[in-house]
Amino acid sequence: MIARRLPTVLPPMTHEEALDVTAIHSVAGLLSPDRGLVAARPFRAPHHTVSAAGLVGGGDPIRPGEVSLAHHGCLFLDELLEFRRGVLEALREPLEEGTVALCRARARVVFPARPILVAAINPCPCGFHGDRGNRCVCSIERVRAYRARLSGPLLDRIDLHVALPPVDVAHLCAPLRAGEGDRRDGRASLHAPESSAAVRARVVEARAAQRARLEAGEVVAASNAELGPRDLARVAMPDAAGARVLASAVERLGLSARAYTKVLRVARTLADMDGSTAVRAAHVAEAIGARLFDREAAAGPPPAAAGV
Ligand SMILES: [Zn+2]
Repeated sequence: MIARRLPTVLPPMTHEEALDVTAIHSVAGLLSPDRGLVAARPFRAPHHTVSAAGLVGGGDPIRPGEVSLAHHGCLFLDELLEFRRGVLEALREPLEEGTVALCRARARVVFPARPILVAAINPCPCGFHGDRGNRCVCSIERVRAYRARLSGPLLDRIDLHVALPPVDVAHLCAPLRAGEGDRRDGRASLHAPESSAAVRARVVEARAAQRARLEAGEVVAASNAELGPRDLARVAMPDAAGARVLASAVERLGLSARAYTKVLRVARTLADMDGSTAVRAAHVAEAIGARLFDREAAAGPPPAAAGV
């Protein structure tokens, strides 16, 4: 449900973005002749039995894959551990480059591929690990083996890892009451205090701050997601207190260079959401808090519940 709503909190597509999406969907043969511009950001959720060609493109004639069909939108991989490893490995290049290059005997085609990737896993094979009802029947070894199937290199390319606590059935059935955003017994409440439109307004504002840095010549891309290490060194370095938090996390969690870059990028974005020019300790701490699997690797035993 959360993944499906992601496109609704992203800024509306620009005309150029809509042209890109329309062109890709047209090449894939997904548009009927009477269909004009695709106006909504795409949401693609391929089944875990998808082939590598289905996910990143291929075939004869060459067709774009799901990662390109989700360009400028959201690619959602539910039950990530059920996908074949080789298929997921094929995602590494597009996630890194933002494009997919496909070669055939006489042709080389490059498709754009810059979606927001969202993936979900269960906390354990039975799905109940960490549930307060103690219904999990998996041994710790089995939970460890299950989590170990998550590819390190793929995980390393994902910015945020967060755990989603179970939702009370009583809350699911209760009528929605505005302003009641509480968390009872550590369980997530469904009484969301904000609409998608309100969240989208904040995202638009944060993106405007990012675009302003591009227009001021401080960075080379319009969104934090596209900033490389050099740009981040210029605009995302935390203040003194934030730098201390970051240094201690690098030591404690043994963050890879790629993970370190991601923490800076997320902390910069949190500061933008806050309307803050400086990246402060709280922003850095929150960005590190969203690296569940790095923390888990450093701490050992698996936590209660997990999603990527
Ligand atoms: Zn279990």
